[in-house]
Amino acid sequence: MSILVIAEHDNAALKGATLNTVTAAAKIGGDVVVLVAGSNCGAVAEAAAKVAGVSKVLLADNAAYEYQLAENMGELVAEIGTGYSHILASATTTGKDFLPRSAALLDVNMISEVIGVESADTFTRPIYAGNAIATVKSSDSIKVMTVRATAFDAAAAEGGAASIEQVSAGEDAGKSKFVGEELAKSDRPELTAAEIVVSGGRALASGENFTKYIEPLADKLGAAMGASRAAVDAGYVPNDLQVGQTGKIVAPNLYIAAGISGAIQHLAGMKDSKVIVAINNDPEAPISQVADYFLEGDIFTVLPELTSKL
Ligand code: FAD
Repeated sequence: MSILVIAEHDNAALKGATLNTVTAAAKIGGDVVVLVAGSNCGAVAEAAAKVAGVSKVLLADNAAYEYQLAENMGELVAEIGTGYSHILASATTTGKDFLPRSAALLDVNMISEVIGVESADTFTRPIYAGNAIATVKSSDSIKVMTVRATAFDAAAAEGGAASIEQVSAGEDAGKSKFVGEELAKSDRPELTAAEIVVSGGRALASGENFTKYIEPLADKLGAAMGASRAAVDAGYVPNDLQVGQTGKIVAPNLYIAAGISGAIQHLAGMKDSKVIVAINNDPEAPISQVADYFLEGDIFTVLPELTSKL
């Protein structure tokens, strides 16, 4: 059995989610081959070759893959993937964009957001916003799946010594064009990779209050900032901070939810956090059912007090 893992990267560095996906691949068993598709991305291939458990790295270095556009990536992965029993990508925006196209081109099913590997053909994945876990047995000749990074430990970034092989494939499908991107710049850790997340909800009532009450606590703890959808929809913070079913999935060591009620759609994005602290003035708020520590109080009093005492 040979498993193809598609690397997540920005042409300069390998992203952490790939390490978790390599662990999922190792659980399936067999050779783990990593495909790095990008432009001038030799450094990423070298980093991938050092990941423990990787036996080979395929490098598709071509301008067509610079921005990993789904149309180009989908075709490349389908072409290379025919020689593999499994094709895995991280369940990130990029992975979720191109991999279903590869599955369609290969005429096999897409298995999304895998959180467990039972055997080489049987996997678990959340359904109904994480309220039920489905066990899926696939009879497809090639199993194509996205992997939820929070469900698997990261493979060691060092220790491997895989060979790097250039692959010549590389055509621009000509169906889409990269126009531009606006990247949010922040000195804080990336939300999905952070050890600690401090999230605010509708109760914050304004963007200024996020700056005044959430940011100082996040900075003291070296934490990433998150938010509920209500806070995002109200325009208090940008939508890349949204945690939940339609936002990001996080599982940090510590998740602090300030003024968040704990709707199932929010819980779907954070309930696997190791320790959950909720600050809420309503002791009946649903978040109390998943919180390890529930601090009943007014966020506008509790947050500054907590920040000052740290
Ligand atoms: P509220 O539910 O209004 O809760 C505010 C909380 O703050 C209450 O518990 C209240 O007691 C408390 N509070 C108020 N004032 C104070 C104070 N001064 N001090 C302390 N506590 C106070 N939501 C997400 O978060 N992420 C998602 O990805 C997401 N996806 C969705 C997808 C779909 C299809 C749908 C239908 C909904 C989705 N939602 C999502 C929305 C979700 O259902 C909730 O509406 C949302 O999570 C509520 O946000 P909130 O907890 O900030 O606000």
